[in-house]
Amino acid sequence: MADQARTDVNTLGEFGLIEHLTKNFKTRQKTTILGVGDDAAIIDTGGPEQLVVSTDMLVEGIHFDFAYTPLKHLGYKSVSVNVSDICAMNARPQQITVSIAISNRFSVEALDEFYEGVRAACDKYGVDLIGGDTTSSLKGLIISVTAIGRAPAERITRRSTAKVGDIICVTGHLGSAYLGLQLLEREKEVYLANPDMQPEMKEENKELYAAILRPEARTDMVDLFAKNNIIPTAMIDVSDGLASEIFHICKASGVGAILEEGNIPIKQEAQLQALEFNMDPVTVALSGGEDYELLFTIDPKDLEKVRFLPNIYISGEIVAKEDGVKLHTVGGNIHPVRAQGWEHFGE
Ligand code: ADP
Ligand code: MG
Repeated sequence: MADQARTDVNTLGEFGLIEHLTKNFKTRQKTTILGVGDDAAIIDTGGPEQLVVSTDMLVEGIHFDFAYTPLKHLGYKSVSVNVSDICAMNARPQQITVSIAISNRFSVEALDEFYEGVRAACDKYGVDLIGGDTTSSLKGLIISVTAIGRAPAERITRRSTAKVGDIICVTGHLGSAYLGLQLLEREKEVYLANPDMQPEMKEENKELYAAILRPEARTDMVDLFAKNNIIPTAMIDVSDGLASEIFHICKASGVGAILEEGNIPIKQEAQLQALEFNMDPVTVALSGGEDYELLFTIDPKDLEKVRFLPNIYISGEIVAKEDGVKLHTVGGNIHPVRAQGWEHFGE
């Protein structure tokens, strides 16, 4: 072992690591329509519908902090974030499995609370809990959820099929979850410094807290698309920030994109809170994660249909790959966007 090279996992980054680990796996089953690389895998059923399957893990101390995360919300969120990946394929979620690794710090009552949240999410999204696994961990809580969905084959939407000229749309406000998290972290610091101080959760920031603690998956959008006869040309859910997600679509589709700064949806509460933190609201929307809205593209012939739908924001256009990924600012400037945000060029 001593003379073997040791490469730190951080050198590859998350996506580089996934690519490295999975590149030597070829799919061998005819039923595997799509494997690694999208929000969910696609499996043939032999019928007119296909299955989509996605897994996500949440780890205490990495994805959530019990200093400010109610167990019931955590149960709900564990389901939402997985259902969100099913929505990103334009499919309807139907089943979930939930696996947990728990340390002896957790009581039955605590786990009951977590499962109350899981149940509330199952009710909301109309999914069935069909299994899972329960085991112990040395430290903390680890949650792994798998979600299974279904859709007619022709409606399933990938990341890799955006075309030059397509219109870029977003289903809701961005940046709120990141700002909610910053507020909760700030309250935690105050509390740690002085345990007699009660954390102050201001009513006006309610929606920012909800965005990070209890996000909703946009199953309603999947229904709205079906009802209005719209099939997005490409789609992804916004788990890592608008910039990172538009890069995924562009890379997978072999295209570029131009985003209109003035048309990036940001809630007023979020704008005000960003400014209070001395942050640029647009940078927060581009780089802050966990909003679980859908980012999708449509053929321009569908623009008139989408324009009159509620809660859809028309935020940019797909351009040639050579044109890169750019932000057209309200001031009329064009800035390159990086996967983590956008370059201010010394502003
Ligand atoms: P998302 O953010 O939509 O949940 P991820 O970025 O987690 O997607 O994953 C991207 C793709 O890589 C998905 O197809 C996922 O199934 C796959 N993937 C992630 N980790 C692994 C792994 N350890 N082994 C195999 N596939 C993986
Ligand atoms: Mg996703």
